[in-house]
Amino acid sequence: MIALPDPDVIDLDLLVLGGGGAGLCAALHAADASAALQIGVVVKGLLGRAGCTRMVQGGYNAVLTAPDSLQAHLLDTLKGGGWINDQELVWTLVTEAPRRVLELESRYGCLFDRTPEGRIHQKPFAGQTHDRTIHKGDLTGIEIMSRLMEQILGRVNVRVFEECRAVELAVDDDGRCAGALVLDIRSGRLLGLRARATLLAMGGGPTMYRVIACSADKSADGIALAYEAGLPLRDMEMIQFHPTGLVVPGSLMTGALLEEGLRGAGGHLRNGPGERFMARYDPARMERSTRDLVARASFLEVEAGRRTPNGGAGVVERNFRGMVKRCRDFGRDLAREPVEVGPTAHFMMGGVVIDPGCRTAIEGLFAAGEDAGGVHGANRLGGNGVADSTVFGGIAGDAMAAFVADRPAPALAMTRLGQIARALVAPLGRATGSELYELQRDLRSVMWEKAGLMREAKGLRAALSEVERIAVRLDNVGVPGGPALNLAWQDWLNLRNQATAARLIITSALEREESRGAHYRRDFPEAATGAPYVVQVRRAGDTVAVSREPVAFTRARPAPAPEPATVEIGD
Ligand SMILES: Cc1cc2nc3c(=O)[nH]c(=O)nc-3n(C[C@H](O)[C@H](O)[C@H](O)COP(=O)(O)OP(=O)(O)OC[C@H]3O[C@@H](n4cnc5c(N)ncnc54)[C@H](O)[C@@H]3O)c2cc1C
Repeated sequence: MIALPDPDVIDLDLLVLGGGGAGLCAALHAADASAALQIGVVVKGLLGRAGCTRMVQGGYNAVLTAPDSLQAHLLDTLKGGGWINDQELVWTLVTEAPRRVLELESRYGCLFDRTPEGRIHQKPFAGQTHDRTIHKGDLTGIEIMSRLMEQILGRVNVRVFEECRAVELAVDDDGRCAGALVLDIRSGRLLGLRARATLLAMGGGPTMYRVIACSADKSADGIALAYEAGLPLRDMEMIQFHPTGLVVPGSLMTGALLEEGLRGAGGHLRNGPGERFMARYDPARMERSTRDLVARASFLEVEAGRRTPNGGAGVVERNFRGMVKRCRDFGRDLAREPVEVGPTAHFMMGGVVIDPGCRTAIEGLFAAGEDAGGVHGANRLGGNGVADSTVFGGIAGDAMAAFVADRPAPALAMTRLGQIARALVAPLGRATGSELYELQRDLRSVMWEKAGLMREAKGLRAALSEVERIAVRLDNVGVPGGPALNLAWQDWLNLRNQATAARLIITSALEREESRGAHYRRDFPEAATGAPYVVQVRRAGDTVAVSREPVAFTRARPAPAPEPATVEIGD
């Protein structure tokens, strides 16, 4: 049996778990609120390189000039979200986004594309009533993350823990968050990071699906940690699938995005026999139909056997410079030949329940970005994701800095951390086997086939039993090697969290007996017209407690006969 030494305890004022747009904005805001605060940022990968904010292509939604308005941005987001969003969170998003864009430029050094007159250029994105999307070519995320990273490196009161992963939240005897237990991936040592306020900003990540567009370093760790700590989570059934993920046989790059603008600009989608299959599903809008509908159509074509040789469903053809270059990396010539594409898991709308100050139900614990739920409801508009992470990250940083004033350091119970450490290393001491990767494959397959684009009660129940079986087997598999830089062990830790999040997705999907936004039930195929409700889950011992919560229409109400709760999305 391998044992880890007791964790080294490090005292901080604020602890930020995750270094994407949300985490870095939080750290910068807190650092600037008081130079006396000691702030730790834990990043599973390398600073500025890990996570999805860096992958942002399309851009950033913010209202800058008339005739656009905050009310229009609010309504577009609620309509896109199938009217189950937390309206106060949406209002906070739309009112703060313009300020955050200006802050990104004038304080942090980003430079977004300009019109000939020198104003910030805003492009149209589907589902939006005005041209609202700010961008830097199709590399907006690289611009934002590079500048945020430079700023972080310039703040002496921010300490970065790179290639470290949060493995458990520490809660003191009074139920307050006391920081987190963190594993240094390179050395295999544990760190007890004690803090007076902690932020969950690990970016969710639907990586439990077979084909993914999001950053593979994410494994829904924040979701799993929050669930284990007893926090309520909402909208977990709402997974966004993007229709045009690359299909590159044998390559882990399968699923990487071809941006939606290609379809808008005239790209055609064809199935194996060469038909423009959208004529069957949405003859009026064809390829310009909504993202959820195109992704489902593509999935159905494959299911009906009208697939291309590798299971991709179509062809995209258009000369987009950034995308052409991306395809060339995989030996495909987007400008001159068909490129195989298929649906890909992209984004989690669901997450931890928060208030507009990013507070969770645990004192001293905050959440922001893709780890938090409620902003996007049943479907996210393109351009609202990075706005969400940077807006709420900044708010969380301000709120945490204010929260810790005059608060004593909490106690970290070392004995409990020791128990957790023993559970974490358990697979390292067991006889080895190849089961780990079989389990990983099983989870990805069952989520893709039974809890993906098309769902029904029977399949979801079968998926739930399969995920529970995987979780039990995971507790018994062995992993070769020791704790230092052991990637198989990291995969075991990832898989545990992915299985936990998968259970929440399936339980929530079973509870939502209707089709709304990204959630489609074959057994309830009509677009939902009933009163909107939110599905909430939380841990109750070993079982998942699930409830339906009313939506508070504090800012707007849907029209009496609601339109189908879907929207064209643009990144
Ligand atoms: C290909 C792609 C294109 C996109 N394009 C757009 C777009 O054009 N416009 C838009 O608005 N949105 C877009 N999005 C969505 C957008 O990227 C997200 O909404 C947003 O960036 C999420 O920010 P975040 O800070 O919550 O998470 P992320 O940026 O994903 O950061 C998560 C961080 O947490 C770290 N982490 C994970 N687990 C742990 C752990 N256990 N311990 C410590 N750290 C951990 C990761 O390493 C990373 O640093 C796109 C997404 C993808 C995948």
